[in-house]
Amino acid sequence: MTDATRILVLNSGSSSVKFQLIDMADGRRLAAGLVERIGERADCPDHAAAINSVADQLAAAGLGLDSPLLAAIGHRAVHGGTRFTAPTLITDEVVDAMRELVPLAPLHNPANITGIEATRKLRPDLPQVAVFDTAFHATMPERAARYAIDTATADRYSIRRYGFHGTSHQYVSRRVAQLLGKSPESVNVIVLHLGNGASASAVAGGRCVDTSMGMTPLEGLVMGTRSGDLDPAILLHLHRVGGLTMDEIDDLLNRRSGLKGLSGDNDMREIVRRIGEGDETAKLAFDVYIHRLRKYVGGYYAVLGRVDAIAFTAGVGENAVPVREAALTGLEALGIELDPTLNAVPSAEPRLISSAGSRVAVAVVPTDEELEIAQQTFTVVRRAFSGAI
Ligand code: ADP
Repeated sequence: MTDATRILVLNSGSSSVKFQLIDMADGRRLAAGLVERIGERADCPDHAAAINSVADQLAAAGLGLDSPLLAAIGHRAVHGGTRFTAPTLITDEVVDAMRELVPLAPLHNPANITGIEATRKLRPDLPQVAVFDTAFHATMPERAARYAIDTATADRYSIRRYGFHGTSHQYVSRRVAQLLGKSPESVNVIVLHLGNGASASAVAGGRCVDTSMGMTPLEGLVMGTRSGDLDPAILLHLHRVGGLTMDEIDDLLNRRSGLKGLSGDNDMREIVRRIGEGDETAKLAFDVYIHRLRKYVGGYYAVLGRVDAIAFTAGVGENAVPVREAALTGLEALGIELDPTLNAVPSAEPRLISSAGSRVAVAVVPTDEELEIAQQTFTVVRRAFSGAI
């Protein structure tokens, strides 16, 4: 057990499985890969076949699942409901409980479960840990987690705000504290995870106190293809007046809205390029995106009271200079001063982009969900087996 320091991280999505093998002794990545288009290819009909393919790829690299150096497998799990608020050692009972949560994440949880079952079959003796995307947000106070609807109805259908991207928000909020040379307990941070999916969170002293995604990943910021916040009566109107079915509304809001719905493009690079050519539609999409983002920055400023840092992460947050600039200009009265030169420097490292005199530090912190999952998995495994001499 003591020499086993490698963690295999598996992210079983609805149509793909991503994997990374990380050595916790030195943080080195020994292997990484992706199996795509599960169910669409004859050689990969289902998730079990995809996991077998991952195992084969690792074996071919001399890093097979039978290696004594492999300490555990960490699985990204999307929805932990109110049941899972921390990384959890997987047992039959845990898998059953995850199955009960399927209605809350019908697209994601079944894929997670099949991935877990397939790896348990291959290595029944190896500890496996589920790291939930919702867990970091479990510390949200009830006033932030509750929707203002009838309590009995809400409880009956598990309707509350769970939040997502938790692993990323946790990693980035801790990493930004480190960048400032402070302990996570001593800083208040607004994290802006801007990828294809996007979410903001308010983190006080290392604990999440609010986040923009809700019961599902549809709430909150404008995203690549998702609407984010809207008046819920729009759904009623589309159904009653427009005659759209529930499935059509689901498709509209999750896959044909956001930047894509507003402009035809869901990729921020395209939006920025089109704006450069004078495209008014792209400019409007950008403006709607930024307006929503600024509302969340302001909202979370008020929720936290004191903000030490604002951290940008994920594809857009790490790379889109104009997005970071537009999100935070004109907020000097809040102590936020971006340095335009630092903001424009491309880098893959965590870095500060605020001016020296800015009361609030502004940072870009590349997210690393796989490393965070590996770390949490390693901690759970060491804790679970340290007493078993
Ligand atoms: P996911 O949510 O799928 O994990 P990512 O965090 O990888 O997404 O972000 C993907 C998005 O990042 C792309 O859709 C694209 O809009 C955006 N992106 C990546 N690079 C750039 C860039 N240089 N400028 C603007 N946007 C970028």
